[in-house]
Amino acid sequence: MNTFQDLGLNQDLLNAITDLGFTKPSEVQEKAIPILLNTETDLVALAQTGTGKTAAFGFPMLQKINIDSRTTQGLILSPTRELCLQIANEMKLYGKHCKGLNVVAVYGGSSISEQAREVKKGAQIIVATPGRIKDMISRRLVDISKIEYAVLDEADEMLNMGFYEDITAILSNTPIDKCTWLFSATMPKEVSVIAKKFMDNPQEITVGNKNESTNNVSHEYYLVNARDRYNALKRLADANPDIFSVVFCRTKRDTQKVAEQLIEDGYNAGALHGDLSQNQRDLVMNAFRKNQIQMLVATDVAARGIDVDDITHVINYQLPDEIETYTHRSGRTGRAGKKGVSMVIVSKSEVRKIKSIERIIKKQFDKKDIPDGMYICEVQLMSLANKIHNTEINHEIDKHLTSINNLFENTTKDELIKKFFSVEFSRFYNYYQKSKNLNVTENFDDRDDSGRDYRGGQSNSTRYFINVGNKDGYDWMKLKDFLREQLGLDRDAIFKVETKDSFSFFNTENELKDKVLSHFTDFQHDGRYVNVEISENRGGGGRKRNDRNRSGRKEASGKRKERRSGTNSHNKPRRSGSEFKSKGSHSGSRPAVARRSRR
Ligand code: ADP
Ligand code: MG
Repeated sequence: MNTFQDLGLNQDLLNAITDLGFTKPSEVQEKAIPILLNTETDLVALAQTGTGKTAAFGFPMLQKINIDSRTTQGLILSPTRELCLQIANEMKLYGKHCKGLNVVAVYGGSSISEQAREVKKGAQIIVATPGRIKDMISRRLVDISKIEYAVLDEADEMLNMGFYEDITAILSNTPIDKCTWLFSATMPKEVSVIAKKFMDNPQEITVGNKNESTNNVSHEYYLVNARDRYNALKRLADANPDIFSVVFCRTKRDTQKVAEQLIEDGYNAGALHGDLSQNQRDLVMNAFRKNQIQMLVATDVAARGIDVDDITHVINYQLPDEIETYTHRSGRTGRAGKKGVSMVIVSKSEVRKIKSIERIIKKQFDKKDIPDGMYICEVQLMSLANKIHNTEINHEIDKHLTSINNLFENTTKDELIKKFFSVEFSRFYNYYQKSKNLNVTENFDDRDDSGRDYRGGQSNSTRYFINVGNKDGYDWMKLKDFLREQLGLDRDAIFKVETKDSFSFFNTENELKDKVLSHFTDFQHDGRYVNVEISENRGGGGRKRNDRNRSGRKEASGKRKERRSGTNSHNKPRRSGSEFKSKGSHSGSRPAVARRSRR
């Protein structure tokens, strides 16, 4: 087993490592650091979040730059302001014994002249978001013409966010013979394009199986009727009073809806998705970091940049369209050596996906029951008792003690305790006393299996058939990218992409139906007709697929297996979520959840 010393790091850095309490290098560090220290090479490194990538490029960069010079020699590009600040702070910690080191973060939304002043003092390393540094380059506030090392951190994320052109523009201001180090959690097509375009014969390292999940995370699934999804979510939260979680939904709309509903029901929740402004997202993320938000409801894309170490639970409110995404989700917890739980709420129709996920992550799921109401009451009661037990006494109360004592003169300690706890407990008890069992057995016939909408409404997405597939070089990712580019949509808008040999299926929200169909009318790509039609297959709008076949690919129509007899006629519109509401009580009043109790 390598130690940091074995990797060839100098004493200043080793001292910082001791101060930080890092005992041994992580895998990506073990692989990347010697390569970067010993050779002047370009590098592509693939490793999941939380694996210590910052130090993997940070230490070599700190060792290789000349700290006696004031020239900017290292540039680190990162997708968001949050990450930019985080990296700059980490770099300062790593380099705290390197006398004269100057690391400066430049990012949007903060004074550009202040940042320019910092740079001017002689920053050997600049950590930047693409937009801001491009701006500063064009205003000649930074000089990156003598860069020796450029890092593209979270490259997949930067490309997702549309920074391709900015990155191109930025790198065109740097010397050709610099070294470029690209770090990414995944390797979509765009990242390999970048690697080809900007890098010269890069060495490649991959850490772990790209999709394999860490041992710190346990995986659980809960089988409920689709219409009970939301109530199940609430119970999982209530049964874990100190929960600090990310709740994943599939679409921006669901994300917003679930978050709003949780807030209305009294939880400390927030939404994070691409329709929010940067400022709104910052507010939510800051609140989450400070534990003011216990349940962050997020889309997959929006959650990609989240680097919060102590998330206790990831809740898959809906499973992702592509099961590979599950690894990204569950990787939000169990970071930095801590334990985490990844929970999946599934309806009967999705339960087979659990098996596929198990194969991908090479881990078993535990099937668990949604806790019943009385169990939750007990958990909440004991959590409250513990909290009271650990509370420091506020002696401001002392002066009122006489009158309080008078009031309770004839109350025994026992009674007093019971009364005191009843204040909180009764609210939970009243809410949960008649609650039903939400669990279903695997052979229970649950017709409403769309799982699409927690309000149990009709499916609001359309499923399409497209006459290209694996044979034409498309896997789900490529097809999704192709459709996204063609239609000018964002990642969330196309889902349930499933490629077969010579044809494929995908979904969009119903509103996009006309746009999709008209775009692909008489549409040719690479010299052949690409044909998109509504599929009868589930999730579809129920319109019968027109059987014309313009593709010139005869086998396509014969092989459409996915057809299912029943369409949405089973999905009766159902009433909304809250058990509380459906019992006819007034809305919004959820019993007090453990609020911000953590730490
Ligand atoms: P990534 O960029 O891969 O998502 P980070 O570089 O942000 O990961 O590191 C995740 C966390 O792990 C940080 O809190 C970091 O300080 C810590 N860390 C990094 N390397 C080590 C190590 N060798 N030992 C212990 N903790 C580490
Ligand atoms: Mg990182």
